[in-house]
Amino acid sequence: RGKRAFIAGVADDNGYGWAIAKALAAAGAEILVGTWVPALNIFETSLRRGKFDESRKLPDGSLMDIVKVYPLDAVYDCPEDVPEDVKSNKRYAGSSNWTVKEVAETVKNDFGSIDILVHSLANGPEVTKPLLETSRRGYLAAISASSYSYVSLLQHFLPIMNPGGASISLTYIASERAIPGYGGGMSSAKAALESDTRVLAFEAGRKGKIRVNTISAGPLGSRAAKAIGFIEKMIEYSYVNAPLQKELLADEVGNTAAFLVSPLASAITGSTVYVDNGLNTMGLAV
Ligand code: NAD
Repeated sequence: RGKRAFIAGVADDNGYGWAIAKALAAAGAEILVGTWVPALNIFETSLRRGKFDESRKLPDGSLMDIVKVYPLDAVYDCPEDVPEDVKSNKRYAGSSNWTVKEVAETVKNDFGSIDILVHSLANGPEVTKPLLETSRRGYLAAISASSYSYVSLLQHFLPIMNPGGASISLTYIASERAIPGYGGGMSSAKAALESDTRVLAFEAGRKGKIRVNTISAGPLGSRAAKAIGFIEKMIEYSYVNAPLQKELLADEVGNTAAFLVSPLASAITGSTVYVDNGLNTMGLAV
């Protein structure tokens, strides 16, 4: 049978999560996605109405099939963690079983097991604020949504991952170099995510024979990136300064993800892999 992948963080056809889903589907994987609860309705409606059909096209001409869309809010591990105002919020009350623990249980009931876990989500409410002006609440929210969410997902999905499987997340160079504008604790969150990649690779490798890697991706004009405010500038900066002077395509990150979770990468774990046209290697803007 083909491999089964759960991809957390797909809510439209613009981001890295979508491109990863497509690359995995093209390689024959069965695709399940986890979609942020507030974005669920519009995503499912758009899917149903064929709005994504053009971008669902795979290289062989067929359309990517998303077998099931799970509502997910990766900031909450179990129902007891959900505050009253969120519980009663109209958008949340319309869905159920969207905490991490419940999603893993539902996937287990639906399919028994998965082979591939992808974390392609991040959120930092104060991302537009410099770190020096970031509140404790904003900083911790960034870490919760963007770093711990991965620990929690792997923690809850590992028991249903088949040995030999693999997991990946998406990170950004702001973890290791100062990128003015990527604020609100998001740079800290990515540093945590990369460090956790190494520790989780050890633990999940020993516990479940699962590989854990992260892709440090170059700038892409996704919905999340547009919210940060300077993405066009970053894309232009990369185009001018990177060794490869070309647009960075989401599909290039998707293809790397497909490689990293495949047997071709069977000895790669705990790594941060750059997919950025080489920009990370430069020390001087020219
Ligand atoms: P995106 O908007 O396609 O993906 C982010 C997703 O996270 C959205 O679908 C959003 O609904 C979801 N999300 C937010 N909070 C959530 C929560 N609490 N629970 C569940 N889902 C939640 O944007 P993207 O840029 O493709 O982001 C995907 C990943 O790539 C992120 O980790 C991001 O930091 C990383 N990344 C992006 C860039 C870039 O330039 N776009 C560069 C490097 C790394």
